[in-house]
Amino acid sequence: MGLRQVEEEILACKRCPLHKTRTHAVPGEGGFRRKIMLIGEAPGKNEDLQGRPFVGKAGKLLDEALLSAGLTREDVYITNVLKCRPPNNRDPTEQEITTCSRFLDAQLHILKPKVVVALGRFAWAWLCDRFNLKYVPISEARGSIFPVSTLTISFKIIPTYHPAAVLRRRNLTETFFQDIKLAASVG
Ligand code: URA
Repeated sequence: MGLRQVEEEILACKRCPLHKTRTHAVPGEGGFRRKIMLIGEAPGKNEDLQGRPFVGKAGKLLDEALLSAGLTREDVYITNVLKCRPPNNRDPTEQEITTCSRFLDAQLHILKPKVVVALGRFAWAWLCDRFNLKYVPISEARGSIFPVSTLTISFKIIPTYHPAAVLRRRNLTETFFQDIKLAASVG
């Protein structure tokens, strides 16, 4: 199965109730020139309307961080743990994450990134669960590089804050930018 096929499957997915409230599913996008993958939590309002990841305020901050690290969206692939927006941006449920995981698994195995940036705790927790890492809070995990490998893929995980959390706590901005630069330097 290729990436486009997975993206089409996501667009047509009705495996969980979120398909009833979504405007568009958001598979993910990016040129992936530098083999860096960024994983967020789930589409928000703007993403749901446009069918594209990180196009709201958090996305603008992410673009600035990428730019400061010498990266553009042509260099990365951006996706989320959940491909559909939870109503009112509530947290994803365990069941939604379990149901949707097949897609992120497929994207990882097809794209075979060198570096995966976990944007926030849902992406970080998902990666810890999948690759047998001990979950520690982002505030403790960030700043370190976590290499993982299985029989089929191996890459480095860089956990950092979710850009929406950085917008709420502006004192995290510098740290967030540093983490994206770290990803660019190992990618
Ligand atoms: N927040 C996310 O986690 N993902 C998006 O695509 C947008 C906002």
